[in-house]
Amino acid sequence: MNHSKSEELFRRAQEIIPGGVNSPVRAFRSVGGSPLFIARGDGAHIFDVDGNEYIDYVGSWGPLLLGHRHPEILAALAGALQIGTSFGAPTEQEVALAEAICDAVPSIEMVRLVNSGTEATMSAIRLARGFTGRDLIVKFEGCYHGHVDSLLVKAGSGVATLGIADTQGVPKAFCDTTLALPFNSVDAVGQAFRAHGNSIAAVIVEPVVGNMGCVPPLPGYLEALREITARFGALLIFDEVMTGFRVGFGGAQQRFGIRPDLTTLGKVIGGGLPVGAYGGRKDIMSKVAPSGPIYQAGTLSGNPLAVAAGLAMLRHLKAHPEVYASLEAHAASLCASVPAGITANRVGSMFTFFFTGRPVTDYESAKRSDTARFGRFFRAMLDRGIYLAPSQFEAAFVSAAHSDEDIRRTIAAAREAFTA
Ligand SMILES: *Cc1c(COP(=O)(O)O)cnc(C)c1O
Repeated sequence: MNHSKSEELFRRAQEIIPGGVNSPVRAFRSVGGSPLFIARGDGAHIFDVDGNEYIDYVGSWGPLLLGHRHPEILAALAGALQIGTSFGAPTEQEVALAEAICDAVPSIEMVRLVNSGTEATMSAIRLARGFTGRDLIVKFEGCYHGHVDSLLVKAGSGVATLGIADTQGVPKAFCDTTLALPFNSVDAVGQAFRAHGNSIAAVIVEPVVGNMGCVPPLPGYLEALREITARFGALLIFDEVMTGFRVGFGGAQQRFGIRPDLTTLGKVIGGGLPVGAYGGRKDIMSKVAPSGPIYQAGTLSGNPLAVAAGLAMLRHLKAHPEVYASLEAHAASLCASVPAGITANRVGSMFTFFFTGRPVTDYESAKRSDTARFGRFFRAMLDRGIYLAPSQFEAAFVSAAHSDEDIRRTIAAAREAFTA
């Protein structure tokens, strides 16, 4: 495959953008080579600037549950353009999106829209601290909650990919407010609460981890988090920025039957435009300004274009609940193709192939994956027209636009690439 135009653009980009990219994992650092510059997308397929076509399993890192350029989302955007792109005043569509979110996600009684997942988690932990009057936050190693200062401790996604320990530029005092524990260990959480229980404002968790690769919760784990936080008066925050509307219409909390106090959303709820949200119990959310004393604001929050795309996405999913069964079937057949010696973790339409024969249940076991072998697999797939996230520590996403034929071609490519 010829990638000369992508390589030339990357050379230009590196002159004026740090590392040539606007978000670190895009740079292909851990798999080698230069990133593809994308010219356009269509359904489950993307086309790079050199004219190569790929079946896309990145889906903009999760948002594109319906694939690229879904007609209902395009129509909603076209409609929004007729009205105006931003007012900085309330609009009817924002109310409709907030209602759609509360209607879908069982624990969300009240919600505030923001512009990214990072803003959502940052605001949720501020709210948790303000509400409880406590400072400590418990997070889990390998979970990623955006680039919030105090949540970058032992973080997943690009921090894991690039092997960055604890990011420079984050004051030690902020790191000291974070307890990072191994995921899936009830014992570790029990110990932390026995030692610091009355100072812990919240536990924040990806209920299904996507950012160290896909790692499901062990049976009983989320239940244990719910029980212990309630017992100590700490809040339970489900970071469903990735899993919300992805692993089911009501997110992971509906799939696993757990009611967190606060939930953060992003990715799918924007339909491919920048939207984040945080919401939950009414008594907690009422503390957010202007109804309460905990400040959070945004010039472009509830942006009409972004809200239109998000609302079209949520309305489509509500009208077509069968989407989830077909996503699940496609992802399951991809994971069934995995040979012995490789561990396929999957929940719904998010999955990761780990190059280890042993179960992957936390960050330590995820790191046992042979990342050099992942790199060979990644490049062999790319050569065969399959576009995966350029890191072992990310989830792959199936969209509703993937056809049976796309899945068959991907399985055939993987069969060859696994031996690369
Ligand atoms: C992507 C992600 C975020 C950050 O969202 P951004 O929109 O990139 O700021 C936070 N939490 C989780 C679980 C994510 O997957």
